Amino acid sequence: MIHSMLAKDKQALFLAHRKELIDQCCEKLARWGVPYSVIKADDKRYDPGKPVQVASIQTLIRRKVWPHADVIFIDECHRSVSRSYRKIIDFYREANNPPVIGLTATPYRADGRGLGELYEDLVVSTSTRQLCDDGYLVEPRVFCASNVELDGVQMRGAEFDEDALDELMREVILKGDIVRQWQSKANGAKTVVFCVNVRHSKAVAEQFIAAGIPAAHLDAKSNDADREKILNDLAEGRLMVVTNVGILTEGWDLPGLECVTLARPTASRSLYRQMIGRVMRPDESKRFAIVLDHAGCTVRHGKVTEDEDYNLNGVRRRGKGGKAQEQLNVPFPCPQCLLFVEQKTTVCPECGYEFPKIEAKVVVEDVDLEEITLRNPQVVYRNLCMTAIRNGYKAGWVAVRFKDEFGRWPRDLEKPPEFIEYEKAEVLSKDPEQEFHKFCQVCIEKKYNPRWVSVRFKEMFGRWPEFAASDEFTTYQSEFMKTESEEQEDSEEQQNNAASDDRQDQDQISSEQEKAQEQDLFMRSAI
Ligand SMILES: [Zn+2]
Repeated sequence: MIHSMLAKDKQALFLAHRKELIDQCCEKLARWGVPYSVIKADDKRYDPGKPVQVASIQTLIRRKVWPHADVIFIDECHRSVSRSYRKIIDFYREANNPPVIGLTATPYRADGRGLGELYEDLVVSTSTRQLCDDGYLVEPRVFCASNVELDGVQMRGAEFDEDALDELMREVILKGDIVRQWQSKANGAKTVVFCVNVRHSKAVAEQFIAAGIPAAHLDAKSNDADREKILNDLAEGRLMVVTNVGILTEGWDLPGLECVTLARPTASRSLYRQMIGRVMRPDESKRFAIVLDHAGCTVRHGKVTEDEDYNLNGVRRRGKGGKAQEQLNVPFPCPQCLLFVEQKTTVCPECGYEFPKIEAKVVVEDVDLEEITLRNPQVVYRNLCMTAIRNGYKAGWVAVRFKDEFGRWPRDLEKPPEFIEYEKAEVLSKDPEQEFHKFCQVCIEKKYNPRWVSVRFKEMFGRWPEFAASDEFTTYQSEFMKTESEEQEDSEEQQNNAASDDRQDQDQISSEQEKAQEQDLFMRSAI
């Protein structure tokens, strides 16, 4: 396109907002043998006579005279709705109205504004999936390295509140998860870590250094020389890990990069894709491409290879949209190796873990099928079990969450084998005597049949309790028995039945309804 323009004596203007983008652009032009000039502070490559001008937006906006342009290219054009871009484009529109061509891998903005305000048409050349399949991009393996709960996090404009993120990630950093997961999944990989703020970024770099892994930190205040040295050291293997705060999200390119660690939750899909995009360039030196997601980004935004419909008004998700659709696309981690897999996965491609089979219901319409699969109690239950294991939640959390969702206890559902183990381990960690007294307390408070205590105890520990109850409970017990026998005297029939007082009958004592109520309380009190 540029060559044919030059043949016709036309002039082009490239606009970019970062040093790296400008350098990259120049590199490409040089490779194609296109004579160019750079408009940026006191850049020595400036030559007004050249047909192609590559301009820093910040410099150009301050200059009095702007070069003539028959066509304008804007790099990372999802930025170009901002005021400086507008001003420049408006100027050229009035001058000679050249075509404006935006180049971007992420045609949407964090604030949800579309690019339609500036561009009349959008050409989607191909999908990320296609680019991966064709070998132009490398699909990364994405691991759920640790998880953060973003549901209650406040928004500030289009992004999460930074203080809240600081708080959220602090714990992950303090626990040393970032280094540990890197050592277990990406040891020796050339890595970039994205952090919430400078303090986190420095702390993470220090943790790597303390573990004997050469690492450095970069932020917006690092000077050009430092920055160049650090990035060179990473490229050439003298550094293994570079931590940063949003400085390496765009315009920087190291095709040999092998791992990206997300220690920074984001509400912006575009930022998310840019961060992961760093590791997707193919390169001969590259041994693997790994993403360690500590920030819940994959659960929030889906996998990068997931298809999206682009339009100039922002992104439109496929299908009927709405929450159900969003949830359907949510990948979840393999319980064994933490690799993110899609809901339909039967065998984990990383570790060979076999997911329990779920019978799908056949429904005529596609959308219905999706919604039903999504709401399939067994699927939801399994996901809850895995979530509990992953996050170290109490086993009882699963049942309570399930009930909140479906209005009933998940008694009839099949427990994943690893959850059975998890429950067992939790029980083993409990002190039976302590639990016994807890049950007694609950029983008194809720005025339950005293036998409930033994039943609950047996359900949990697999045997009848052998502990002496407190005086308080013994008193409650005898009072309860007294009222019970008074009531029973009214009915001869009942009296006869009540003769068998053996503990083996205790399971049948509570009516179904009572039992459900008791379990409700029990499960909630267990959390
Ligand atoms: Zn696995």
